[in-house]
Amino acid sequence: MRFLLVMLLILLGAWWWRQKKREKHTVRSTTPTTQATPMVHCHVCGVHLPQTEAIAANGIYFCSADHQHRAGP
Ligand SMILES: [Zn+2]
Repeated sequence: MRFLLVMLLILLGAWWWRQKKREKHTVRSTTPTTQATPMVHCHVCGVHLPQTEAIAANGIYFCSADHQHRAGP
């Protein structure tokens, strides 16, 4: 009787582990691997670049410090 109880616990544990593993897999597949970065364009040359790489000044974006200086103070 005790052996059956141990076997049942092992089977239940294996089932629970597989469910957990499957759940983790589905969550990973539904969430995007790369997050979309907003794109902005340079005020001087109009080149599009990710907002994280752009230089922002007064709500205007520039591709480089040189173009920021060219736009004036
Ligand atoms: Zn530029």
